Amino acid sequence: MQYKLVNPDNLLAEIKHLDQNYDLELIGRALTYADTAHKMQTRLSGEVYITHPVNVAYILAQLRMDSKVITAGLLHDILEDTPVKKEDLSEKFGMEIADLVDGLTKLESYTYKSIAHQQKVQAENFRKLLISITKDVRIIIIKLADRLHNIRTLHFLPDNKKKRIAQETLDIYVPLANRFGIAVIQWELEDLCLKYLYPEDYQRIVELVALKKDEREKYISAIISETEQILKKNDITAEVSGRNKHLFSIWRKGRVKKLKFEEILDLIGVRIIVDSVENCYKVLGLIQSEYIQLAKGFKDYISQPKENGYQSLHLNVVNEDGRTIEIQIRTKEMHLIAEEGIAAHWHYKEEYGIQKKDRTGKPYTAIDDSVKKNVIWIRDFLKEQKQENPALFMKSLKLNLYPDIIVVRTPENKYIKLKKNSTPLDFAFKLHTDIGLHCIGAHINGKHKPVRTILKNGDVVKVLTSPQAKPSKDWITILTSIKAKQKVRQYFRNIEIQELVEQGKEIFYKRIRKLPVKVKSNSEILALAKQFKLSDAKSFFARLGSGEIDFQEIKQVLLPEEKDNVITEEESDNNLPTGDISMPAIVLENIDNLMIRFAKCCVPQPGDKIVGYTTRGKGITIHKDSCSNKGFTNLRKKEPERIMPVKWKKGTKRPEKDTVLKKQHKNH
Ligand code: MN
Repeated sequence: MQYKLVNPDNLLAEIKHLDQNYDLELIGRALTYADTAHKMQTRLSGEVYITHPVNVAYILAQLRMDSKVITAGLLHDILEDTPVKKEDLSEKFGMEIADLVDGLTKLESYTYKSIAHQQKVQAENFRKLLISITKDVRIIIIKLADRLHNIRTLHFLPDNKKKRIAQETLDIYVPLANRFGIAVIQWELEDLCLKYLYPEDYQRIVELVALKKDEREKYISAIISETEQILKKNDITAEVSGRNKHLFSIWRKGRVKKLKFEEILDLIGVRIIVDSVENCYKVLGLIQSEYIQLAKGFKDYISQPKENGYQSLHLNVVNEDGRTIEIQIRTKEMHLIAEEGIAAHWHYKEEYGIQKKDRTGKPYTAIDDSVKKNVIWIRDFLKEQKQENPALFMKSLKLNLYPDIIVVRTPENKYIKLKKNSTPLDFAFKLHTDIGLHCIGAHINGKHKPVRTILKNGDVVKVLTSPQAKPSKDWITILTSIKAKQKVRQYFRNIEIQELVEQGKEIFYKRIRKLPVKVKSNSEILALAKQFKLSDAKSFFARLGSGEIDFQEIKQVLLPEEKDNVITEEESDNNLPTGDISMPAIVLENIDNLMIRFAKCCVPQPGDKIVGYTTRGKGITIHKDSCSNKGFTNLRKKEPERIMPVKWKKGTKRPEKDTVLKKQHKNH
């Protein structure tokens, strides 16, 4: 919509300029009446108050609303802000206009006593607004025009108030404008909200768009003339125009997809408006044969209109330079609805003269459907909001405004927002991961239903759980919520890890018992884990369980000074077999005073084939050649040079353990 500010002096002329047929007598009378009533008020900008209703009225005229709606626009703040009563209005302007103004008037708007009070007033005002819309749908258009002018002039307000109003606009008025298809207002509201809520982002996009403007326009005009030629060759009359993406949609894309700003050049849009649905598809075929079409982005909203009645064909093509061009193809009628939604209702027939008949023979248009659907939606919404809690009402309103989500609730009246096509399983995960993981079924509106049932708006859902229940892997395909899918995947990953942890613990405690050091407390285990650069005991045990860490490495960390003494079982000599084993004769040349120890792991007996393992500073340990002790076999492989051939001397016996210990002492 063209951003044009008018004033009380030129309003009538500007309105007449838009349409000769406006009732300027009525509008002029309302202007004088409102001017007098608001005389004592000024806006924060310092302007006289009447500039606000005057510009609201002009926005309504730009939307081609009728004279009564424009009159109501001029009078819209009178009941709220001046002593004028509804009866005064109905007397002067008739009941229809008085009802419109009354529908737009807040219940109370004096200073709030507390935050709770403010919330209550806000909720009640929105409830009243919605009820008014169901009685006369034109009220939403006036309300949106009112909000548009307020937010256009928001810069006079203090920062915190600016942000609060912008946020409320983005939360409620933008989705309302979208629901009713009034795109021209929605886009401007979005851009202005962006400006106040994310000023830095806004500035950056404005600058970058300006920077690439020339280049972009060059591309747009080239594709326009190319397209025009193609259509001309095929005898199709069409209106081809370039279109600018509005800033908010660039910002939203950037946020969601981390769009690089160099890609802004790619945001080239062309619109082709033809005179019939048949020609829409003909043009589509021609474009497809002339350009390379991208699979991504093709939408047939003609056969499948959006919820708000929007119809168009969308496709993306690339030009020779590799630039993406977004093309929209639609009829004039569709274009009007795409831009103005239900606001087109009141001038649609006279402009297009198209009158379809419904089954009962009554004339109707696509907009009638949209109006009807939205009024039903509001009625259903209000019917469900029986409870008086204002915070819940506002939350539920915000949630319900979006057509691609559904809102269901718990039996305790807790509202849960879900994506369309969600199941009780999504619902359960939204409540709590543990509820999701133990979900076995659900009651939907009191009836028992399986977990894969698709939920509808307003369903009351009670999740059934069992402590024994476990998720199944096919839940990943049933779930709509990405977050919930992740939780299920994580669950199965955790089970695997838990198994490794158990294995690791078993190895650890079995073998640590045989070491002279005690590692028992959590902090001791954590300290040990840190030696392996791990931050927690769980990952430490899991690595041990998976074999990524060998127990031998743990031993070397715990007993660094004994790191060459591989024979774990030797640490305690108490169990050394005693008896009829004489001192073996070790055949070694040039080495005296060797201390000999017998490995407890394999307990070599005279006659066994044996090997000696030299331990730095501790002599030689005798193993059976066939010893399978893991630590010994590892080291034997790693440091074969330490193995030396030994053999029993005939008739020798194994030494007493005391002898061994004494000798150890003496030598070190
Ligand atoms: Mn106002």
